[in-house]
Amino acid sequence: MLIDSHCHLFMPEFDPDRPQALSRARAAGVTNLVLVGYDLPSSREAVLLADREDGVFALVAIHPHHAVDATAAALTELAELASHPKVVGIGETGLDFYRTRSPREAQEAAFRAHLELARALRLPVAIHDREAHAETMRILAEGAEEIPAVVLHCFSGDRAMATEAWARGYYTAAGGPITYPNANGLREIFRDAPRDRVLLETDAPYLPPTPHRGRRNEPAYLPLIADRLAELWGADSGQIGRTTAANTCRAFRLPCREERG
Ligand SMILES: [Zn+2]
Ligand SMILES: [Zn+2]
Repeated sequence: MLIDSHCHLFMPEFDPDRPQALSRARAAGVTNLVLVGYDLPSSREAVLLADREDGVFALVAIHPHHAVDATAAALTELAELASHPKVVGIGETGLDFYRTRSPREAQEAAFRAHLELARALRLPVAIHDREAHAETMRILAEGAEEIPAVVLHCFSGDRAMATEAWARGYYTAAGGPITYPNANGLREIFRDAPRDRVLLETDAPYLPPTPHRGRRNEPAYLPLIADRLAELWGADSGQIGRTTAANTCRAFRLPCREERG
């Protein structure tokens, strides 16, 4: 049992073979997927797909790249989408100072507005942080304790940030980058992570794990990421699946069966 806690299966990259990609994921043992919106149209798509498919859930938000679109009207529509029973959180929101496609001030304002929405609706949040570690942690510190769970998706911070995140009770998600040859620092962070704070994700179609780099990523590749974590933890893949699935169910309050073993 594996859960892909963050992917974008609704994107046009999957138009030619979306049902097959979902079947391949299930055949690979990926029993649940969390589809993550990044603007209003994609948030609607995520909810529609989650509505149709068993074991598929959605998060809704406006990505920091599109922060200038996070108007009051847009946030009202996100709140309406969030009333759907398969919507389990707000995301992805946060800061991206790597590409800075929206001005920093707009990103920070949109991030705060999303956190306010999550507080008001009592929903977990999935955070996108690219080259904005200190600012992300500072804004989260302004009131994330009222938010049921904080997931740092595709965690890319340093050890100090990870330690602080775990101390605050945040979850850190491992994706394709933990399989990359030059990612020893990141692997050491996940090696030492508290076992109840780690989720798995593909971020498909982005960030394919080794050996699929340079091509489209898909949720069926999640076992490659789980296997790498299994090596780091000296555990077997089944144990990794059970532990990270239980963490994901707790973080996003998914209706998962409690698996014991
Ligand atoms: Zn992201
Ligand atoms: Zn994403």
